[in-house]
Formats: sequence, C-alpha cells, structure tokens
Amino acid sequence: MSDTGPVGARSAASISRDVRRGTLALRTLGGDVIDAVEKRNDELRAFVHFDAGEARAACDASHAEGALAGVPIAVKDNIATRGTLTTCASRILSSYRSPNDATVIERLAAAGAWVAGKTNLDEFAMGSSTEHSAFGPTSNPWDPTRVPGGSSGGSAAAVAAGLVPVALGSDTGGSVRQPAAFCGVTGLKPTWGRVSRSGLVAFASSLDQIGIFARSARDCARVLGVIAGHDPRDATTSIEPVPDYESALEGGIAGLSVGIVEGTWETLDDEMRVCFERSLTILRDLGVTVTHVALPSLGLSIAVYYIIANAEASANLARFDGIRYGRRAEGDHTLREGYVRSRTEGFGDEVKRRIMLGTFALSSGYYDEYYGRAQHARAMITAELRAAFGGVDLIAMPTTPTVAFRKGEKLADPLSMYLSDVYTAPANLAGIPAISVPAALSSEGLPIGLQLLGPHFAEPLLLRAAAAFESSLGVPVMVPPR
Ligand code: GLN
Repeated sequence: MSDTGPVGARSAASISRDVRRGTLALRTLGGDVIDAVEKRNDELRAFVHFDAGEARAACDASHAEGALAGVPIAVKDNIATRGTLTTCASRILSSYRSPNDATVIERLAAAGAWVAGKTNLDEFAMGSSTEHSAFGPTSNPWDPTRVPGGSSGGSAAAVAAGLVPVALGSDTGGSVRQPAAFCGVTGLKPTWGRVSRSGLVAFASSLDQIGIFARSARDCARVLGVIAGHDPRDATTSIEPVPDYESALEGGIAGLSVGIVEGTWETLDDEMRVCFERSLTILRDLGVTVTHVALPSLGLSIAVYYIIANAEASANLARFDGIRYGRRAEGDHTLREGYVRSRTEGFGDEVKRRIMLGTFALSSGYYDEYYGRAQHARAMITAELRAAFGGVDLIAMPTTPTVAFRKGEKLADPLSMYLSDVYTAPANLAGIPAISVPAALSSEGLPIGLQLLGPHFAEPLLLRAAAAFESSLGVPVMVPPR
C-alpha cells in the first residue's frame, strides 16, 4: 500500500497516522479528495451525491485524533447521514434528508473520519449490478463497459478508483462481497448483529448487515473496530465484546484448516476454476490444510434467499407510501389513490417485482408453501454450516461465478442476475461473517475474488487469513489502470 500519492489511493491507516502526527493537513487532504472525485465521477458515477462544499465542511469538522483521524469515507446512499441526502437511489426518496446519522456514521465521526459523499446503489439495494439505480449506472473502474457489481457498486468503484481509501456498503445477499470481487478490493460482511443497523434503510432485516470496502485487510480491521459493538438503538446488536481486530492480523495462518465444498467450483468456467484452485495452493503454501466439507443444502440458497429477502422487503417497504415516507404523487386523490400513485411513480421496476414476489410468498394459501418452506431450508443451511465449522476453521469459496459482466447483459433476465449471488447468499442466511479478497486478474485483466467464510464472530480469524493471503499474493493493492 503506497504511503504517498493521491490521498484516496493511500491506506486509511497511513492517512490517520500522518494526520495525527500533523504531517498531513486536513485542508490538503480534503482538497485532494474533492479534486479526485470531481475529476473521475462524471465517468464513473460512483457517487450519486457529492457536493464539494459539504465535503469540505465535513472534512473541516473532523478532528485530528482517533483511529481514523482525517480519513475520508464514502457511504452507500441507503445509510442515513444527517442533513444531507439519503435516497436509496430511488425516485421515491429523491429529496429525503435524514434527521439523524446512522450509528455507524456517529462512530466513524467520533474516531475522526468524515463522509466524503454518498455512493450509488441498486434501488433499495436490490440488485447485483448497480444498474437498477434511479440515477443511472456506475461504471467499473477496470473497464467502464462493465458493471461494478451491486448493490453497493458505487462504494466498490470509489475505493477501486482511489477516490477514497474506505467505504461503507450493505450486504443482504452479497452486496459488499460481490462488488468488491468485481472491482478488485477487499469487502467484509460482518456477523449479523456485530454492527448496528440503526440508520440503515431496511431491505431484509434478518439478512441485512453493514459492511466495509477497503484496499487491505488492515483497513477493514481498523474500520470494523470503530463501527462494531452493541448499540442501544438496535436491539439485535450483540453484547459480545469487540476484540482488537488489528492485533489479530498478526501471526499468520499456519496450522489452520479450511474447508471446500464439493459442487461449488468444479463447474465454473476454466479461468474461474483455475483461479480458485490457485488460491487454494496459496493457502496451502501458507501452512493451511484444505479438506472437504459437506453442505448438501447449499444449492437451495438462492431460492431460499429470494423468497425470504423479498418477503421481508415487501413488509419493510410498506412505509414508503407518500405519507409516512417518500415523495407524494401530485394532484387531488383519495387516500388509497395517493398510496397507489406515489408508489407507482416512486419505485422502479425491480423494486416493484420484489414487492410483488414477496407479497405473494406471504399471502394466505401460499405462506406455508413458500415462506414456511424457505424458513425451514434456511435452518437446514445454517445447521449444516455450523456442523461444518465443527471440523474446519474457515470455508473457502469463489466470491462470484464470473468476472464483472457487461452493462446491460443481464438486465432483461432477472434470474441470471439473481444467480450472481450463488456463493454469497449462504453467509447471510446463516448470519455468519465472510470476506472477499482480491485473488487474481483474468486474462482480460478483470479482478477475481476469493471468499472466506467463518463461524459467528470469527472476524479476527477471517481478517488474519485475508491479510496473510494478501501479503503472499505479491499484489497487495490492485488499483485499476488509468
Ligand atoms: N443481489 C442480491 C439481491 O439482489 C443481494 C443484494 C444485497 O445484498 N443488498 O437481492
């Protein structure tokens, strides 16, 4: 990780060190970030709300102390930031300003970080390409004809392009790990309950978790240490003490056992399969024992995920009706017409599809057949993962079945888009932590990720394994060619 050069291309750890020492002035730093975003954002559309004045004010208001002193952070636009826009990339929230900061934002500010701007996403975090945004798609910095992944595509692109060192996203079925893999950065989805969801606009509450993008495991560890922990405003947060994630990075992973699951990579195309096998060789060279684990119900994950996620979304999105939340349709109408018109005008097609599918899965007569069975299968997947972790420390899988696909390629075929989450959804169903680390470049020069999954609260071990993998890869930072 370079210690000089454009601020956004430096690590959060080195920026905060220099700010604390007084060798990097907040003013210079703010100016550098603003210049970098203004230069690249028209082309990338990583940020959907970036205001140089707001960024400058946020930077000036940050303090030169704390674990993230002076560190600029890009924030997915479904995480509330007080006073500035929080739109979820939806027409229905296009002018919404939150009265509060999300808990994660308060904690970042208390550690000295500042919000550089809000990043693009698939509307309400529903998608795998950031093409379902009311503000237009984000481009992958490695190849602008391709998607950055989704739904946190703007955050992944902002970090990959070196506009900021770290970013926040949300991961309901893979929305941090999949874009991290497509953009060649590290993406961590913590254990469900490890990080407060207060101020995260809910998509599927039993699956949603705020996650972190960075260009190293160390920066992920630094940010996690700041945002993790119990929050009285989110009763689902754990009271488990927050360990020192950074000191857990040391020590290597010799002696660790990593499980691989038959049927998860053998059928991939040659390049993805070879890359996964090479990643296993790197792990073995680090002293890891690789063994097989059985997860017979894993193949149900996508079906289960899309029933449960959509069912929960149909309930969570009921509040956007033009009265409680959301832009109200203009003109005279009855209460009922007002709901219908506000939602018809405010939501995009993918969101409507999810609400209809979710409502159907919960409707009387179908509830047991869909929602009930999905819950049952979810419990099976969770139990199988728990049993697997009785025999191995971590599980390795590809993060994605393909490299970043071309814009437009999957838009007409929702099912093929949904299949992008085949390797990432299981961790959300089980509530366990998982990380995607850059593992290789394809023959076309596109990033490929390796995913590691751990048991509940195994973030220290996941981060240590990610750090070891990263350092033995010989390509610690993968900043895209310009
Ligand atoms: N791609 C998945 C979906 O469309 C996951 C989204 C997410 O994790 N927010 O639901």
